[in-house]
Amino acid sequence: MKDPAKSNVQPISFRPLVYSGVILAVLLLAGTSGFLFYQAGLRKRADEMQRLYKDLLDYRSTLTLIDQQLAVSPRDPEMLRKTVQNTKLLRYRTVGFRARAEKNRMPELVDWIESQQKTLEKTLTDIDRNRDEAAAAAIPLMVLEVDDVVLQTGIEARRANEKVFDTVQLFLFSVLAILLVILVSAVWLIVSNYRQTVMPLSQLARKLRMLNEELPESFHDTAEEVKKDIRHDAFSSDVNEVTDSIVRFCQNIEKKNKKLDELFIKDEKTNLYNYRHFKDHLIIDIARAKRFNDRVSLAMIDIDHFKAYNDANGHVAGDTVLEKIAWIIREECRESDIPARFGGEEFAVVFPRTDSRKVIEIVDRLRQVISAEPFKRERNQPGGQLTISAGIATYPDDALDWYSLVNSADKALYHAKQTGRNRVVHFTEIDPAKGKEKPLDD
Ligand code: GH3
Ligand code: MG
Ligand code: MG
Repeated sequence: MKDPAKSNVQPISFRPLVYSGVILAVLLLAGTSGFLFYQAGLRKRADEMQRLYKDLLDYRSTLTLIDQQLAVSPRDPEMLRKTVQNTKLLRYRTVGFRARAEKNRMPELVDWIESQQKTLEKTLTDIDRNRDEAAAAAIPLMVLEVDDVVLQTGIEARRANEKVFDTVQLFLFSVLAILLVILVSAVWLIVSNYRQTVMPLSQLARKLRMLNEELPESFHDTAEEVKKDIRHDAFSSDVNEVTDSIVRFCQNIEKKNKKLDELFIKDEKTNLYNYRHFKDHLIIDIARAKRFNDRVSLAMIDIDHFKAYNDANGHVAGDTVLEKIAWIIREECRESDIPARFGGEEFAVVFPRTDSRKVIEIVDRLRQVISAEPFKRERNQPGGQLTISAGIATYPDDALDWYSLVNSADKALYHAKQTGRNRVVHFTEIDPAKGKEKPLDD
């Protein structure tokens, strides 16, 4: 069997958090790999440019050497041999240059190298055919051109190096910015989580701890307090849901407590107060009367020949009569009186701050109402109707405590039964020695 309480609980999902983490990690990894790949390309180009620059410088110095050799001693055979050797070396170098320029996709440089190669070819031919002046005139022009190319290549090599450095800076800055964004988001997440969830939850926990230590008189007030203190639009919806549940829980307990209170003091069959509540109330009322020099009257009421009614009509019909008489008693009493079921078919009514004359008046009216009330099949009762008898006693005139007050009222009831039933008898009637009630001292 599935536990219904458990099936309502939704597990917290970390899936979005894990997915975001994985996506972020993949993005970072891809970004870093892309950067490293790109940067390797840049560095390679910078190295190539640097090498090209260095080769060009070598090329230039050899060219300057040839220029000087042709200018100083053009017809010296040894010098001529060296000049031809150097020129061939240069021609050989241009092949390497050209390959490097093509590899680095530098078409202008390729064109320039081609023209250099042609000039070197022509210079070799001129030397070979003893046209020294023509050869000597071409070289300075070449030196000038090389100067220009060296300058350009030097600038480009420096730029390529700077680009490598700039990309590293940009990458570090981007990583720092991402880390900063992650840090700020994490701090924001932690702070908002703390303010929206942790703080209110600890407040709630403190309140519940206090509740546990001392159960409150009113759960309704507690619910209101919890709602006021720990429910806020700024708090997370989970916390507010917990608060709402606790508020509902307190309200339900309050309702159930009220019902329990009722059950604790009420008689189930007649819905009058039960003996426990009657006794507690009587004790308190007598104590109060003693303290304030006041009176409390008590009426004991008993249905006449009720056994006969039960025997003739059954206990279910008897119960209906009992309920109806209880209802009439409640109706005839004042708001401040305490009508109770004493036990069986006997009732007791406490009349706080009421003297015997007033109580006799109220109870006699009650007796008359009941005797006039039509009850089902009451004509078979002795006397042809359902009636009650009542005995009344008053504190402090007829008793000194609650217990003797009940006894005195009971004696008066017994007297009412003895003297014909359907009667209301006050205790003073059976104990004339006590005489009339005397005025109480102020
Ligand atoms: P009396 O006029 O002297 O009071 O006569 P009585 O028959 O009323 O007195 P008795 O004490 O002999 O009988 C009380 C009867 O009340 C007996 C019992 O069946 C009945 N009774 C007590 N409690 C209940 C109840 O809850 N329901 C019903 N139907 N009858 C009850
Ligand atoms: Mg009785
Ligand atoms: Mg009776």
